[in-house]
Amino acid sequence: MKVLKFGGTSVGSPQRMKEVSRLITQDGEQKLVVLSAMSGTTNSLVEIAQYLYGGNKAGADDVINRLRTKYFAHVPELLSQKENQDELNKFLEEKFSFLQSFYIDNFSEKEEKIILAQGELISTYMVTLYLKEQGIKATLLPALDFMKTDADAEPDMAYITEYANKQLQSVPGMQIYITQGFICRNAKGDIDNLQRGGSDYTASILGAAIKADEIQIWTDIDGMHNNDPRVVDKTQPVRHLHFEEAAELAYFGAKILHPTCIQPAKAANIPVRLLNTMEPSAPGTLIDNRNEPGRIAAVAAKDNITAIKIKSSRMLLAHGFLKKVFEVFETYRTSIDMICTSEVGVSMSIDNIKHLDEIVGELKKYGTVTVDHDMCIVCVVGDMNWENLGFESRALDALADIPVRMISYGGSNYNISFLIKETDKKAALQRLSDFLFNGKK
Ligand code: ADP
Ligand code: ASP
Ligand code: MG
Repeated sequence: MKVLKFGGTSVGSPQRMKEVSRLITQDGEQKLVVLSAMSGTTNSLVEIAQYLYGGNKAGADDVINRLRTKYFAHVPELLSQKENQDELNKFLEEKFSFLQSFYIDNFSEKEEKIILAQGELISTYMVTLYLKEQGIKATLLPALDFMKTDADAEPDMAYITEYANKQLQSVPGMQIYITQGFICRNAKGDIDNLQRGGSDYTASILGAAIKADEIQIWTDIDGMHNNDPRVVDKTQPVRHLHFEEAAELAYFGAKILHPTCIQPAKAANIPVRLLNTMEPSAPGTLIDNRNEPGRIAAVAAKDNITAIKIKSSRMLLAHGFLKKVFEVFETYRTSIDMICTSEVGVSMSIDNIKHLDEIVGELKKYGTVTVDHDMCIVCVVGDMNWENLGFESRALDALADIPVRMISYGGSNYNISFLIKETDKKAALQRLSDFLFNGKK
């Protein structure tokens, strides 16, 4: 069986839901389908929670009423039989009254998580009802009965494997099994989620749990591109990526795939295919464990990066210096993205600056500290085994006119990263595209 995930853009309107339904049923094959909330809904739910944290019930009411109007208008567009329309109206009425039941004092994270879960609960209910109206043998599997995280907020693979398979077996013979992306229960059994964009992760985890033949991630563009199509002209879809390449790209900002999504698929060696809902016959991008020797696959960029440099003559020939530096970051639970060292100094980049002041304060014990804000990591991804020749110079040639703050290579066989100013990002991405993919010399 294949696992297919459709994102918020793919189920963003009744029309799109009908398209998705056609897409998943036309070949008659059995499928497990993971859906996101309709696009925009999770953002609205976040907004409701923000109002409720601040005790602003009128603000929450406003957002809920806007959502309510939008969803009720979808009912007659999606369903044509009166009894199905009545059923969905009743379901939506319950959901919106439920959302209004959180106008309480002491609104906490626990309630917030319940609110955030409603988008996927609603979209999956709608699509399942539509499929049934079309005479398809479809059933809704409740993700909250099998998607579970452990005490470290990591997916509990043993639990998920056991219960996802039990759920599937408990309703045999269906053509389409629908379930919610993103939502889960945590170690305490409370409703939780896999972080924003986490539906991709659900699909990958479930693909591994049920030993799927393939995991398909359907979104609104034609697979992973060799550069960010929102920033650069003339990008091309990449037809094939190694798991490691896809993970680097996802982490470094190619938002088409959530970074966590690669790991479960890779561990279970299940190919992941990225496909375009708007153009279903396009080949998309296949991600698996096959290498394409010597090929530079793509470029991606990550903004809002801060660089921290510590220079100290005490570092010269001393041991234990890096340990002390890393412990500071560990204390403040801040992860380091890039790192470059010389005999007298070390530069690191971080994207979470919540504890920057404390970190810099502590690092000053060890040397002179310089901080650069508004930086950007640009990473070039491909088969960059160190014995391959020439890829470093091609990337550096492209960046000849751009000031580069850090360069990192050797951490993986698949990536060379550059830290530049955010204001140089567009030029850097464009030049990398021109030099690496469009034949400029
Ligand atoms: P989905 O609901 O399908 O997961 P999201 O709502 O998560 O989609 O939004 C992802 C959006 O971001 C898509 O519309 C996609 O086109 C766009 N996008 C963002 N960054 C990139 C990138 N680097 N390459 C391609 N598309 C991108
Ligand atoms: N609906 C969730 C979000 O918007 C999860 C997802 O779409 O992947 O983040
Ligand atoms: Mg997404």
